[in-house]
Amino acid sequence: MATASLTIDLDAIAANWRALDRLSAPTVQTAAVVKADGYGLGAARVVRALARAGARRFFVATAEEGAAVRQALGPGPQINILSGHMSGDTEMISDLDLTPMLNSLEQITRHLEALPGHPFGVQLDTGMNRLGVEMLEWQAVAPILVETGPVMLMSHLACADEPDHPLNRQQLAAFHEMTDGTGLPRSLAATGGILLGPEYHFDLTRPGVGLYGGRPFEMAERVVTLSLPVIQTREVAPGEAVGYAAAWEAEAPSLIATLAAGYADGLLRSLSGKAMLWDGDTPCPVVGRVSMDMITVDVTHLPEVPRTLDILCAHQTLDDLADVAGTIGYEILTSLGARYDRRYQEARG
Ligand SMILES: *Cc1c(COP(=O)(O)O)cnc(C)c1O
Repeated sequence: MATASLTIDLDAIAANWRALDRLSAPTVQTAAVVKADGYGLGAARVVRALARAGARRFFVATAEEGAAVRQALGPGPQINILSGHMSGDTEMISDLDLTPMLNSLEQITRHLEALPGHPFGVQLDTGMNRLGVEMLEWQAVAPILVETGPVMLMSHLACADEPDHPLNRQQLAAFHEMTDGTGLPRSLAATGGILLGPEYHFDLTRPGVGLYGGRPFEMAERVVTLSLPVIQTREVAPGEAVGYAAAWEAEAPSLIATLAAGYADGLLRSLSGKAMLWDGDTPCPVVGRVSMDMITVDVTHLPEVPRTLDILCAHQTLDDLADVAGTIGYEILTSLGARYDRRYQEARG
């Protein structure tokens, strides 16, 4: 078979959610961020596993993603839309009971006019300058808006993965200034913010990447395993080159395995000549360029050519691979290709 298999451990995702939940006080609710199709792992399976673990509130980027999560979960859990109430989304928000996090005065007006009485939250900009109502605008509308009962006031930290970055405390102070005295539920922390400690937890935390086994949640259980099938092996003589641009040349007689996955499957081209694949405990270096559908690996030192080699495994986690590629675990996850045979592991169900 020429299809690589991506194994997704749903029990590990559930365990990571519980572990992140335990890092805040029992009075603090722990939501789950499942945008971008559950960080590329399949939102429907991920949210059902998280709901079984006890998650009751979910965050997605867009109303369309919210619709997919609602379909997977049915009525009940609260599904929050981080991009807020975009024009054209009113019917979906209303029919599927989605909760937009309103980001601007324009969105606030749109929501209150189109769906008066429909639940919403407000996203405040405390210094990231990406999304959210800014301080002066908020001061102007807060007296009226707080009366209409937003379900939550939230903001997002720009540097939470760097505990000593001064922006963390500045954003915390701005969030207090904007929300103290409102009496409304508040949320500031994603995975990184949870690890910054209780001051950052407020009423609700919103972990994403930590659920899927990524930094900065170093204690996370590993979630993904990616195994690539060997589709051919060949002997390469000294002086012969392998792959595009003849980027690698054999110095000694070598046995090269061609594996079925490439940059079209999210194995970034920047891994060329740098990454390792693993046969159990034995590393095997990638040689030459990663191409669209294939990757070439030196297996000269193996006693026997295996049927598959692993690129994400106990020896090489998401973040290890991200470091080699010069990116972050988030990008490795959300780049995982559509061609993989996705296998979900779950003890219960
Ligand atoms: C993506 C996102 C999160 C989750 O962040 P992680 O770093 O993956 O935990 C939380 N809140 C907002 C607003 C986000 O955009």
